[in-house]
Amino acid sequence: MAKGNISVDSENLFPIIKKWLYSDKDIFLRELVSNACDAITKLKKLVGIGDAKIEDNPQYKVTVSIFKDAKKLVISDNGIGMTAEEIDKYINQIAFSGASDFLAKYKDEEDKNSQIIGHFGLGFYSAFMVADSVEIDSLSYQDGAKAAKWVCDGSMEFDMTDGERTERGTTITLNIAEDSTEFLEEYNIRSILNKYCSFLPTEIYIETPDKKEEHHECDCGHDHEDGEGHEPEEPKPINNTNPLWMKKPSECTDEEYKEFYRNVFMDFNEPLFWIHLNVDYPFNLKGILYFPKINHEFAGQEGQIKLYNNQVFVADNVKEVIPEFLMLLKGVIDCPDLPLNVSRSFLQNDGYVKKISAHITKKVADKLTSIYKNERENYEKYWDSIDIFIKYGCLRDEKFYDKIKDVIIYKDLNDKYITLDEYLDGKEEKDVYYVSDSAIQSQYINMFKNQGLNAVMLPTMMDTHFISFIEMKQSGVKFKRIDSAINDISNSEEKDEAAKEQDEKLIEKFKNEIGDESLKIEVQSLKDASIPAVILLGEQSRRMQEMYRSYGQQMAGMAGMFKDEFTLVLNSNNSLIQKIDTLGDEDANLVIDHVYDLAKISHSPLPAEQMTKFVERSNKLLEKLF
Ligand code: ADP
Repeated sequence: MAKGNISVDSENLFPIIKKWLYSDKDIFLRELVSNACDAITKLKKLVGIGDAKIEDNPQYKVTVSIFKDAKKLVISDNGIGMTAEEIDKYINQIAFSGASDFLAKYKDEEDKNSQIIGHFGLGFYSAFMVADSVEIDSLSYQDGAKAAKWVCDGSMEFDMTDGERTERGTTITLNIAEDSTEFLEEYNIRSILNKYCSFLPTEIYIETPDKKEEHHECDCGHDHEDGEGHEPEEPKPINNTNPLWMKKPSECTDEEYKEFYRNVFMDFNEPLFWIHLNVDYPFNLKGILYFPKINHEFAGQEGQIKLYNNQVFVADNVKEVIPEFLMLLKGVIDCPDLPLNVSRSFLQNDGYVKKISAHITKKVADKLTSIYKNERENYEKYWDSIDIFIKYGCLRDEKFYDKIKDVIIYKDLNDKYITLDEYLDGKEEKDVYYVSDSAIQSQYINMFKNQGLNAVMLPTMMDTHFISFIEMKQSGVKFKRIDSAINDISNSEEKDEAAKEQDEKLIEKFKNEIGDESLKIEVQSLKDASIPAVILLGEQSRRMQEMYRSYGQQMAGMAGMFKDEFTLVLNSNNSLIQKIDTLGDEDANLVIDHVYDLAKISHSPLPAEQMTKFVERSNKLLEKLF
């Protein structure tokens, strides 16, 4: 029997590892099961190239056995195995040197990040997070190899003896510590394996030998008389060893993509479309990104992108690898070249990671462009679900905008989808009228429609930012809310002196009755004669206010500096306005107040007090009919 001393300066490595990793104990199982799968992959490779001779048609598998009473968790594989020398090399020397590097480097660091562990080849030692002692019993595939056993109780000493294994492979036995007995619960083990190991390339089974001996448990929900139960079912592996993203895109059917989506994301709404990433050069990247149906704004909407390393789950939503704006999508990304466990700061500074992120962005842009070009009808159907994500992407990443700028479409007043170019139609003046709320702005929409004019719908908070962004990127383009300007709906002919004088008198009358110094009043001849007056709200001042309000509390005060610039436009083309002059003062004032209220109502709802007055006045006006 060999006794050894682990050559690390610190007396107490394991308490430190334990403390470091406390926040995420679960990963020990990922480390051990992925080591077991690796051992099988390695053996398969050797067999493949004729360097190892083994039995015919081996059933490769990893088994996780729970012995609740004996407080043991056992992970066993029939992979490559290790000789005593290899255990010494890989477990005693390499892993421990990794451990001492780790300690040396991170001893004084405040940010004790569990992510670092695997980076230093400490995967195996994460077992000590949950175990008082750990045993390795291993038989190498090599001819004439002897089984070897390694036992370590978490102190700095280990024992090496002959092993007991008679079949090729490795058994790792964890004697679970008192504070970690949750890892003896089957449902717990199952859920950890489901999280991390669902797509590992070798079949993984859970066994509960204790339970089998007592009685055969059946989870069908029925009571069974003795001997009347179900036939014991064939054990099923917990994982899918050949996940869809590993297949060639040309070999996957739509139904498979949809099924994979349902199974992985538990989302029973069909995804709109998907992108299958399959890159070999200059880096290795596979994955599937799904565009889910998104229902307006971000409220409650969160995507989920799962990052894998060689089919081992690493983490959800790793911002450094996936461009932030794609976080609304759902999908899986497998990057075998990324270290399994690395710190966030490593990822942020890694040029390789940046390349991956840029590549994903490019693929998304290519896919969108291809749907726009080849399936415009579908593209328009998807648009309401994807526009927020696309606009957000443009704001976050100008390169993305550059790639997709020609496929951004806008819904117009006739519910058609058009591009900005199609809207402008080669016009020199690049004013783009838009609607932010089609209910409140319905009066203006009608005016536009009656004049054969068009506008685009830009109703979301995202749109307010997007508008400014497009104005910055496309010179000359000016977005104007449909209630902000009158140019296109008024007649522009010059008025003579007499008409101008008449207008002045009318304005005076309105000013006196309304009594609001800050209200601008103009007379214009609107093309639509049926409307007595409209309210216009200055585009720039309104936008400034909205911007400051959107910054929240601190900046909201600034919004007050930009008073609303309201203009009341009286329509000299309307018969009511033309006749005010002929009324007595009392009636004229009734009409003025009413015309003003009607214009306000068409712009935004009246406050309560004004609404009461409006109703009273309406009744008075009705009485005048009799
Ligand atoms: P890493 O997996 O990052 O190399 P580990 O500490 O998890 O670090 O494992 C150290 C080494 O021990 C592995 O690289 C492998 O050579 C060996 N090893 C671990 N588990 C097994 C196993 N189940 N079968 C064969 N070799 C193993």
